[in-house]
Amino acid sequence: MPSVASLKDLSVSGKRVLVRVDFNVPTDGEQVTDNSRIKAALPTLEYLLEQGAKIILMSHLGRPKGEANPQYTLRPVANELANLVGRPVLFLEECMGPKVEEAVEQMQDGNIVLLENLRYHAGEEKNDPEMASALARLAEVYVNDAFGTAHRAHASTAGVPALVSEKAAGLLVEKELKFLGERTGNPERPFVVILGGAKVSDKINVINRLLEKADTILIGGAMAYTFAMAQGKKVGDSLCEPDKIETAKAALAKAEEKGVKFLLPVDNLIAKGLDFGAKSLGETDHTSEGSDIPDGWEGVDIGPKTTDLFVREVASAKTILWNGPMGIFEIEASSKGTYAIAKAVAENQEAISIIGGGDSVSAVNKSGYSDKVSFMSTGGGASLEFLEGKELPGVKALEKA
Ligand code: AMP
Repeated sequence: MPSVASLKDLSVSGKRVLVRVDFNVPTDGEQVTDNSRIKAALPTLEYLLEQGAKIILMSHLGRPKGEANPQYTLRPVANELANLVGRPVLFLEECMGPKVEEAVEQMQDGNIVLLENLRYHAGEEKNDPEMASALARLAEVYVNDAFGTAHRAHASTAGVPALVSEKAAGLLVEKELKFLGERTGNPERPFVVILGGAKVSDKINVINRLLEKADTILIGGAMAYTFAMAQGKKVGDSLCEPDKIETAKAALAKAEEKGVKFLLPVDNLIAKGLDFGAKSLGETDHTSEGSDIPDGWEGVDIGPKTTDLFVREVASAKTILWNGPMGIFEIEASSKGTYAIAKAVAENQEAISIIGGGDSVSAVNKSGYSDKVSFMSTGGGASLEFLEGKELPGVKALEKA
């Protein structure tokens, strides 16, 4: 990302710095129930405070569909943030307009203002030029630290930076670009990628890109059954995408051509009578090594032999990238494979370990290994698009003219 300025390259002292953050946190309407996204923005905010900037924060929360709706107010976030930074945070009930401009005009160095939910206005998601210019008017400097929305060209992520000349990536976005971009683009080897989750179709572009970079790719989750079908195996009633068999075959051929070790499960935990709502698998069994999944049964996790195989690969890696669970990890009985991977990734302290967002991040958090991995992405969709090699509009907009 050579042409994106770092926050530390800008002079922000005494200036009004408009920061797009990702404060899309769960609340019960009064209190924030998980403050990890607020915490993720603290390095940038603390740096701006040290520099004596005037900080104006903007974010979305939930999907209020272009209308003010108290269910989605950012007010509880202002309280939580004030506790975390140990100073007052002035919450404004609007995100733009004369009242906001007046309040911003009166800010002193080191003051923090949080604007109300950007998505109370339909113009945010439409990247409406009027909304962008109303927001840009508040800023002398623009900073984007909201990686989770960087794949969307919204007013606050694309419209505003197009109008502000002094702009930069925040420290969180910079870190995301470093780990998801540089470290996987030019990895220390062996570079082992673990991919899981529900669908080949969601991740095929990531697989294709990583086939150019990785030494080893380990496939788990329901995705593996589409690959198994591509190899002529039977997968019983497992979740799979028969229309993606050709895509899977092409990926297998590409792996062979590139000399990438592409490992699929050799055994599976299978279930009959799964009830997701009741978090119950019903009757369970294991397939023996190399055998098909019988009709009437569905694969719900990688089996113990596969787990051993994958754990060994992870243990010898120098760079690890993981995205997607190995099974239906929401049900305890089919979560073993996923948690074994979380443990293996955490235990390899010789490697740069990158958790590519979404469910894998929550698995690492739940296992208590979050401080043992090098980096956990705060983006779900944005991380995947970035790993696919797509240009993210929110990052593109930060490029210097
Ligand atoms: P993704 O968002 O693509 O990473 O997919 C995550 C979802 O995949 C989780 O909700 C898992 O329960 C689901 N998943 C993983 N393995 C399986 C499986 N074997 N069968 C059905 N769903 C699965």
